[in-house]
Amino acid sequence: MLDFDWRGRLVTAGLTLPCTESYGAVAMTSPLPAVPDFTSTADVPCWRIHDGEAIVAFSTRLGGVSAPPFDTLNLGRSTEDDPAAVTENRRRLLVALAVDPTRLATAGQVHGTDLRQARTPELHPACDGLWTSERGLGLAVTGADCMPIAYVASGLVAVAHSGWRGTAAGMPVRALETVTRGAGVGPERVHVYVGPSIRACCYRVGDDVARQFPAAALQRRDGAWHLDLVAAARIQLAHAGADPAHVVDLLECTACTPSRYFSHRRDAGRTGRQWAVAALQA
Ligand SMILES: [Zn+2]
Repeated sequence: MLDFDWRGRLVTAGLTLPCTESYGAVAMTSPLPAVPDFTSTADVPCWRIHDGEAIVAFSTRLGGVSAPPFDTLNLGRSTEDDPAAVTENRRRLLVALAVDPTRLATAGQVHGTDLRQARTPELHPACDGLWTSERGLGLAVTGADCMPIAYVASGLVAVAHSGWRGTAAGMPVRALETVTRGAGVGPERVHVYVGPSIRACCYRVGDDVARQFPAAALQRRDGAWHLDLVAAARIQLAHAGADPAHVVDLLECTACTPSRYFSHRRDAGRTGRQWAVAALQA
């Protein structure tokens, strides 16, 4: 099936990653969404994926109004940024995505594994994932290194925030199970999208963190562990029955791409936040 983004560019047409990587016993070949126009000054550049009746998007730091160090599309209210700028940034992104800015559900994230069903636009406290079957209701989770994951199944979308704590505790698969239950479909029917996050190239961790992950999600570089959160998620999802070909990773590292992303680790905490957004089209 051919699908086009907001500028009429082809989004999915059997495009595949240039290589087939292997994580443990899991081989995967994934379709890759069209790369946004990061040079555009007239739009809100973001990763945008049309998956049937659903829209999934991952924001960048581009296209907003915030001043440094939150320049420019900071979407996080838990920062020292001007709240009015954050409100305008959120509005710009959602309008660009054709999601009503007054119809958005967000999560008060705590690095846990709880997901909530969103039926109305509101902040859901103390959870790290949201799912909905309501048409036109947007869902958003926030991050600036943690892995944002979006899920699409028949008549249902979900978003999850999964840093090392959430991933070690099984958030990627908890969200998959919630989606399969809610949609009444098997895990092989769920499409999963992993957005910009810190990658093994930049994610040095201590022994205490490393020992919570399988060997296939760890790399040894210069005498230190480097954690590959996406590999950990892929392993969980494959073991839970997801089709590896339905797990799409944008392959973007927040920490080593300062021109496009905020990174909590790189910027020592003083930075903006990206969003993962999902909605069923109204
Ligand atoms: Zn990196």
